[in-house]
Amino acid sequence: MFRTCAFCNAPFDGDGGPSGLGVGRRLAFDEWRGRLWVVCSRCSRWNLTPLDDRLERIDAVARAARDGGRVVAATDQVALIRWQRYDLVRVGKPLRVELSTWRYGERLRTRQRERMKVVVPLTVAAVGLGIAANVVAGGGLGVFVWNLHRLVDQVYIGIVGNRKVSLTEPPICANCGNLMQLRARHVQHARVVPDAHAEVAVVLSCPKCRREGAQLTGVDAVQVLRQGLTYLNVTRSGRRRAEDAARVVDQVGGPDRLLHDVARRELTLRSLRPERRLALEMAVDERAEVEELERQWREAEEIAEIADGTLSTSEQLEEELRRLKRNLGDQPSG
Ligand SMILES: [Zn+2]
Ligand SMILES: [Zn+2]
Repeated sequence: MFRTCAFCNAPFDGDGGPSGLGVGRRLAFDEWRGRLWVVCSRCSRWNLTPLDDRLERIDAVARAARDGGRVVAATDQVALIRWQRYDLVRVGKPLRVELSTWRYGERLRTRQRERMKVVVPLTVAAVGLGIAANVVAGGGLGVFVWNLHRLVDQVYIGIVGNRKVSLTEPPICANCGNLMQLRARHVQHARVVPDAHAEVAVVLSCPKCRREGAQLTGVDAVQVLRQGLTYLNVTRSGRRRAEDAARVVDQVGGPDRLLHDVARRELTLRSLRPERRLALEMAVDERAEVEELERQWREAEEIAEIADGTLSTSEQLEEELRRLKRNLGDQPSG
């Protein structure tokens, strides 16, 4: 019966995994309100599961998420958790520090792998060149190898810093009138500022005239921040452990507070403390990723409330009918 999406009629993918539903690869659950949804892989709408043994199913999904799951992204309300080949979306109660560490630990490892892809070939090439040069010059190898590490590091940071910042429309500098062609390294001089009309606002410094020349908000501001912070956080001074950053987010009182706090101080990204920079990158990233999930959840929750409403109405009706029948039965016959 519960086999196809109620919104687009597509058959559900997956086999329900820990839920025992027999369908679904992406499952959303709310332990506090006792809700379980199968998320459609085609239209990504949330399908509320039937009531019978829903609570046991939610328990099983929650246990899988807690014991073997890996948190990919999280806001205060929503966490996306990978468990085997399933996506488990937990909505409701937050668990800040634990989540951030998981997520960021994973991101740092990915970044490390990305770095190795560049660093290893560069090192091999440079060692070859270096040995040749050293043999010719008759010099010692030790000093060269020691310098090599730093050289390769610099090259890698240069590559990340040189990445173009992709914006829907490049801003024009209010100061010198030039089109701002931003690279990730230019964003280090940008500042997060308070803005009454936007959740995130960034003032950019012009690569040409070096003065502040444009303000971005919304999606563009987030994009600029993500690339600029990624660059700063791969630099030598920027490398910090995920736990430190998670603690910073926690101390301030969550990712939104951190963003506000940074905006209030109006410092350039470059002058933020490294663990704060990492925490800010984490906060900005999480927002972008789970904002969409949160929107979907609110929509699904509205529908669930309506479903609960109609259900209790029909239960009341049944109760009423039973009472009527009893009364009829009680009437003296003949
Ligand atoms: Zn659908
Ligand atoms: Zn300019």
